[in-house]
Amino acid sequence: MSARPAPPEVDRIAAGRAAVAARQARATVKRAVATRIRTALDAAQVAWSDPDSAEASLRVSELLGSVPSLGPTRTGRVMEQLEISDKKRVGGLGVRQRQKLHDFLVARQGPAPSKLVVLAGPAAVGKGTVSAYIRDHHPDVQLSVSATTRSPRSGEVHGVHYYFVSDEEFDRMIADNELLEWAVVHNSYRYGTPRPPIDAALAAGKRVLLEIDLQGARSVRRVMPEARLIFLLPPTWEELVRRLTGRGTEGVDEQQRRLETAKIELAAQDEFDAKVVNREVSQAAAEVVELMDAPFRAPSSRQG
Ligand code: 5GP
Repeated sequence: MSARPAPPEVDRIAAGRAAVAARQARATVKRAVATRIRTALDAAQVAWSDPDSAEASLRVSELLGSVPSLGPTRTGRVMEQLEISDKKRVGGLGVRQRQKLHDFLVARQGPAPSKLVVLAGPAAVGKGTVSAYIRDHHPDVQLSVSATTRSPRSGEVHGVHYYFVSDEEFDRMIADNELLEWAVVHNSYRYGTPRPPIDAALAAGKRVLLEIDLQGARSVRRVMPEARLIFLLPPTWEELVRRLTGRGTEGVDEQQRRLETAKIELAAQDEFDAKVVNREVSQAAAEVVELMDAPFRAPSSRQG
């Protein structure tokens, strides 16, 4: 009856870290279901095909509790109706219980899951023009309006093109966890994606488009692995240089800096789920919108 020796310190630290990562992964799944990016049925199917997935370790009550419109009371009643005990995890269900949960989720599957799409690409490739075209021609797609610490250019409207905010206000947004992601772009100003409008739009079943830089796209992938990342390409490098230098809003040094950034950004194109070549704006915009409607890969099947 001797006491078991305590595990070595390093093991406990590693186990603690693994537990935190697993909890975060489960929170990501619940959030995706709550904001309709994924359906509960999709999460359950991933759980049953991959016993090591975050989905498998989720409690059935947590999964059902994330479904929009199933409050805690209704979740409790559904659990009773399905004869599944409170502690059961999705991956730990037996064949009959799986079938019952499956049938329940199929029967109540609501509208198609909404979609979060990130459009990134090198400076001057025309991301802004393509997303403005989508804003004007596809009012059903909600465009995220970023916050930035840079000053407005001529014709830019606060609340439409950006929220132009002070450094202090940007600091406050970070501190209050109001930004889904943020980055310092071109080594100068800070840009960030306000989170509340995106959560609200996704929960309302809308498609949301973010036009942000590469660092931002990578951050979104980390916090919302279900997001689809689209890379906008110039037809040729020469065309990109022409577009960059032809814009005339920046000085020579700034243009040079942006070209350097563009080279680095172009090298990242293979990290993206899809590529669209911006030969002609309306065509590129149509391709982006079409990709918003294409089926999403389950996040667990992603590489890396
Ligand atoms: P500009 O100052 O020319 O409007 O934008 C400069 C860069 O900032 C563009 O590459 C644009 O995609 C990026 N950007 C705009 N909004 C955001 C944002 O919310 N987050 C991040 N990470 N980048 C952004």
